[in-house]
Amino acid sequence: MLLFKILKTYIKNKFHKIAPFVLAHMITHKCNMRCRYCIYWKWNTHEMNLKEIETVLKKCSEFGIPIYSITGGEPLLRDDICEVLRLGKEYGFFNFLVTNGLLLKEREIRDVDLLTISLDTLDRRKFLEIRGVDAIDRVISAIEHAKNEFETCVNVVLHDHNIDEVERMVKFAEDIEVGITFEPVSQYFPNCLGVDEDKLRVAMKKILELKKQHKYKCIKNSKSYLRLVAEGGRFKCLPYLLLRVDPNGDVISPCYDVEHLRAGNVLEMDVQEIISSYEFRRGIEIARECNRCYLICYVEPSMVVKNIRWGFDAMLTALKG
Ligand code: SF4
Ligand code: SF4
Repeated sequence: MLLFKILKTYIKNKFHKIAPFVLAHMITHKCNMRCRYCIYWKWNTHEMNLKEIETVLKKCSEFGIPIYSITGGEPLLRDDICEVLRLGKEYGFFNFLVTNGLLLKEREIRDVDLLTISLDTLDRRKFLEIRGVDAIDRVISAIEHAKNEFETCVNVVLHDHNIDEVERMVKFAEDIEVGITFEPVSQYFPNCLGVDEDKLRVAMKKILELKKQHKYKCIKNSKSYLRLVAEGGRFKCLPYLLLRVDPNGDVISPCYDVEHLRAGNVLEMDVQEIISSYEFRRGIEIARECNRCYLICYVEPSMVVKNIRWGFDAMLTALKG
């Protein structure tokens, strides 16, 4: 059923229909970390309650969106996160949860198809410096706990403070038998950490080399993605593949990393109405001219739809998982 939904969405996009693959729900902006490349934790946005979230899930499921991605902020700060995940499954979604791991052991979550935990460094001092809390042991222990329960992946945001750690991070993931993905820091927000482009390319080449050595099966970025960033290449961004929903139900188009618009609220409007709106379409136009980021969640789906070879590469990476 899920595969059928994904295929249907893929075909629609191939025939130039706008059909999001992912309901990308920032369930809260609140966070218990203070990362130096992020400002969401400074925001205080009204959050939908469980009943309202159910309304959104029902609408998006009926529209045919196959994947429910829950991000934040820190999603596990929501007391009702287990109920949200249960509803995700009830409405037939592939549940993808992104967390910083701090509350993972306490929450006893279930109904997760893929769990990503962010970890940027294995150095205690740097962890504190980058993420604003002294919690490296807690996060590593959360990863070790999670891998026994769910398909688990570590996501590393690359910036000037950890760019020399890629090999160490890959070996760490391989040793403890979890997946790992890398992506460069997004540099839209003022005063956030950045990354030197030359160093980034060298690091990406290194990851690509490691991936080609078949002993590192843990690397989950596709080779096409790693090559793109290593070569400083550009991609054609199709932001509508993600329906980006804020904690209060507002839909953001195209993304937070450029000037964006609010294309209505998914509680008040139907998905079709939102994606037909002037604001949503204007966001797509903005993205057409934009080459600002290498955010995995936008690059990989955009390129899979645009480029059949990339699609095979991504599929191969997933199957090897
Ligand atoms: S854990 Fe995520 S949401 Fe929280 S401050 Fe860090 S990057 Fe931002
Ligand atoms: S390339 Fe796409 S996802 Fe990245 S910043 Fe531009 S519009 Fe946003």
